[in-house]
Amino acid sequence: MWLRLLLLAIAGWIAYRYIRKLIKQLSGKLNMHKQIERCPNCGESIQLVNDPLKCPQCGQLLARGLDGKLIIRVN
Ligand SMILES: [Zn+2]
Repeated sequence: MWLRLLLLAIAGWIAYRYIRKLIKQLSGKLNMHKQIERCPNCGESIQLVNDPLKCPQCGQLLARGLDGKLIIRVN
């Protein structure tokens, strides 16, 4: 009886550790997907949410290059 309880406790502990590791990995992935980029004009890290793309720090209008990176809008 006590042996079964011990095994159950160990299994629970391993599952708990595994789930914690999984959550950590998952949140890490989510953070990577968060859109925090740097303004090519002033270098501040900015979070762009809507169009037209505009740096909230310096007011520079921005555009996206072919590779998806932020570039300074020229027109
Ligand atoms: Zn800027």
